Amino acid sequence: MTTDTLSVAGTDVSPHHYIGGRRVPSATSFELHSPIDQRLLGRISAGLDEHVQAAVSAARDAFPAWAALGAAKRKPVLDRFAAEIGARASGFCILESNDAGVLLSRMRHGVVPRAMLNLTYFAEHALGLQNRALETDQATHLVRHDPAGVTAIITPWNAPLMLGTWKIGPALAAGNTVVLKPPEWAPLTSSLLADAAHAAGLPPGVLNVVQGAGATTGAALVADARLARISFTGSVPTARQIARVAGGNLVPCSLELGGKSPFIVLEDADLDNAAATAALMYRNAGQVCLAGTRLLVHRGVALAFVAAMRGYVEKLRVGDPREEATEVGPIIHPRQVERVKGFVDRALAAGATALWGGAVHPFGAQYFAPTLLTDVKQDSEIVQNEVFGPVLTLQTFASDAEAVALANDVDYGLGGVCYGEVGHATAIASAVKTGFIWVNSFGIRDLAAPFGGCKRSGIGREGGEWSFEFFCDIKDIVVPKKPFRASFSQR
Ligand code: NAD
Repeated sequence: MTTDTLSVAGTDVSPHHYIGGRRVPSATSFELHSPIDQRLLGRISAGLDEHVQAAVSAARDAFPAWAALGAAKRKPVLDRFAAEIGARASGFCILESNDAGVLLSRMRHGVVPRAMLNLTYFAEHALGLQNRALETDQATHLVRHDPAGVTAIITPWNAPLMLGTWKIGPALAAGNTVVLKPPEWAPLTSSLLADAAHAAGLPPGVLNVVQGAGATTGAALVADARLARISFTGSVPTARQIARVAGGNLVPCSLELGGKSPFIVLEDADLDNAAATAALMYRNAGQVCLAGTRLLVHRGVALAFVAAMRGYVEKLRVGDPREEATEVGPIIHPRQVERVKGFVDRALAAGATALWGGAVHPFGAQYFAPTLLTDVKQDSEIVQNEVFGPVLTLQTFASDAEAVALANDVDYGLGGVCYGEVGHATAIASAVKTGFIWVNSFGIRDLAAPFGGCKRSGIGREGGEWSFEFFCDIKDIVVPKKPFRASFSQR
């Protein structure tokens, strides 16, 4: 049985769904454990078909009025929603560091401010979208971004608040209503988000949250033919299942998936800077889709680069994410620890050498040591597959052409990093097949910029105007400039 309130380190949160502006419990529930130490945080209501259907119905009922409100009147509601997130900042920090293992310091300084901006930025940006006029010789085209309808948003466990609001912001600003299915391993901040929405006065049904496992609750949601859009962030195998079902209903999907991004260090790179950035790839215990996990280093500078990087890695503090000084926290779940360990063990058995790490960290069973594996073959599992843990590989190259060939020789194409003289690095970055790539930097994510992947890393782009391209139905109202007379000879 679930209780009506769950208390985590002094922060109260509902374990129930949020449907049509009300908390709704389920008869069935699942256990939620903390990745920090596997302690039981509580039991969470598990969504059945009836909860999913009720949430989609509530979103459908709320849609006409929310859409008709217009961007200008939605903006103050979304600004209040952001303010209510700010008012609960410490609760969001506590919950996501306890259920997802995200560093408390990163939650406070990075994630919570970004979650607020995800709402205010898109609320503001939506104001400029109404009725753009396109003038041609023949006509004025009033190009409208009309709200699409009920939107399903499905998020992964590595950054639920950040990734949820990144989609909820533009979806609501565009005039859509939302059913959010948060990750079953880290659902708590999505529940608190519903409290913030409620306190901000979001009309009932505009945002709904249904919790539960992907194979049941998630699958029931994507199968609902009343959806107008599905926006998903997660793994490739899940995306294939969702795309198959959405294809059957002809519902447009945005799919933000995994990565195996290259981190290229050219011979003219600032090695110390490159090494400091490479150590950042262990952030969030490597559970970051856009991390550059394949270090590709010019062989003339490889030894110096590794020595510099070792200096940074040795100083990394692995430990409890709630402590201010911690830089690398836990892996989300024992199953994920086993998965990471399996990748590393098989790579070592196949001849790889661990330059550092290679095993579970002494801090505890949920913590994996920052690892760098070399002597790895391009076609090996460890180079080709996403590990989603603090595990990087190192390969060397002798020419620019070889660097680009290695960078592109994987099925993924999400991100990338390239360090070198800026013109040189930009030229190499242009040749890498990827959705985005940082030159002499990492992690700059402007909300105005497009985000998404190529190849198996995803379909579609979100961010800035690209979010609205996806979340809206674009309509052209054509008004002729000269009086129009019907004629069969007209082209
Ligand atoms: P996952 O695919 O297992 O789960 C993601 C979400 O989908 C969860 O909420 C899950 O419950 C749900 N789900 C699972 N099966 C479903 C189904 N059949 N129908 C509907 N929903 C279903 O991914 P994960 O393990 O939670 O997250 C890690 C993955 O996410 C990694 O591959 C990572 O690279 C990727 N990711 C990508 C980005 C990006 O922006 N490209 C960002 C973060 C994470």
